[in-house]
Amino acid sequence: MEFRDINRAFLNIGNEPTAIEINAKARALKAEGHPVISLAVGEPDFPTPEGIKEALYRAVRDNKTFYPNPQGIPELREAIAVYESARKNMPISIDRILVTVGGKPVIPYTMYLLTNPGDEVILLEPYYLAYPYWVKVFNLKLKIVRLNEDGTIPFDELKREITDRTRLLIINYPSNPTGAMLTREDMSRLLLLLDEFPSLYILSDEVYSRIIYEGEHISPLPHNTDRVILLESFSKTYAMTGWRLGYGIFPEWMLKYLVKYNSNLLTGPTTFVQYAGIAALRDPGVQKDVDRMVLEFKRRRDYVGERLSRMGFSFHKPSGAFYYFIDVGVDGMEFSKRLLEEKFVAVTPGIIFGPSFSSYVRISFANSMENLQEAMDRLEDFLK
Ligand code: PLP
Repeated sequence: MEFRDINRAFLNIGNEPTAIEINAKARALKAEGHPVISLAVGEPDFPTPEGIKEALYRAVRDNKTFYPNPQGIPELREAIAVYESARKNMPISIDRILVTVGGKPVIPYTMYLLTNPGDEVILLEPYYLAYPYWVKVFNLKLKIVRLNEDGTIPFDELKREITDRTRLLIINYPSNPTGAMLTREDMSRLLLLLDEFPSLYILSDEVYSRIIYEGEHISPLPHNTDRVILLESFSKTYAMTGWRLGYGIFPEWMLKYLVKYNSNLLTGPTTFVQYAGIAALRDPGVQKDVDRMVLEFKRRRDYVGERLSRMGFSFHKPSGAFYYFIDVGVDGMEFSKRLLEEKFVAVTPGIIFGPSFSSYVRISFANSMENLQEAMDRLEDFLK
């Protein structure tokens, strides 16, 4: 394959053009002066908590402006280790933590280290669109297993897909786009799966782990630290999407490779942003801000859920994250286009979360109550 062909192929991976089309159209309509409301966003609408901003200003004033340690500054890794050890109820050493530019790089870093071209990666559908992108970029074989309606894992089917070339299973709970949570039973069965298939690793994407409305966040990490990799992020929890700060917790042997890789690619996230990250984890005021955000998301979830069910949609109410994933019964792309053109409401077509979801759309409730009310009124009108 010629260099340029490869790039063309990458651009077409994962049906991004559909989502890009909707977003571009939403921006164009807005620029023309139309009252566009976007429920296609994947980020909190709240500003970053003051305590984090203050810590950033302080770090800049204190000249924390030099190259960071390529694994992440030790003070931040220490804060992450304390935070995660408490949450996961296990000791986590700072030697297993790699601080990254947002959580996203943990996906290619994991594949880069664990796979050879032709190896297999299993995604549970619906999935976050960055996963299939990297599977294809690394020339891996993509296998897709559709989750049960309630977000639980169909283990018989999953097992049938695993071969001795299967290196990675990616799980994401709370889920984007469904908001489903990992059950304790599924977690135990995942651990059995690791015992049964010794060349398999699990990448557990837990970026929504703090945005939960009921139930308990369950992670397989504490139960198998050799073969479970954690992807976490400051983006959603602390309304820090633009700051680009996240981390991975890896089996220790992986770190020396990843640090080398990181140091040659990025060195790491901006030094003073890493100092602000310490405040995010340690400042009690910030933690209270997070609790307030989650309460507000819950209020919006309940409101949107009630409106959607009155419109006749049936769905599993999300227990975490900030999305509804609903079957609209027609082509989701067409639905999204027409809803935007006729009512100026942008939603995300379900097809980008996997081929089984062409009749679905994702509705984000990370928007003001006022906008959500107006958007639900317009959606109701549209359906009529
Ligand atoms: N994982 C999931 C499931 C996500 O929804 C997102 C963001 O939308 C990410 C990872 C990446 O987040 P970030 O790179 O901002 O940390």
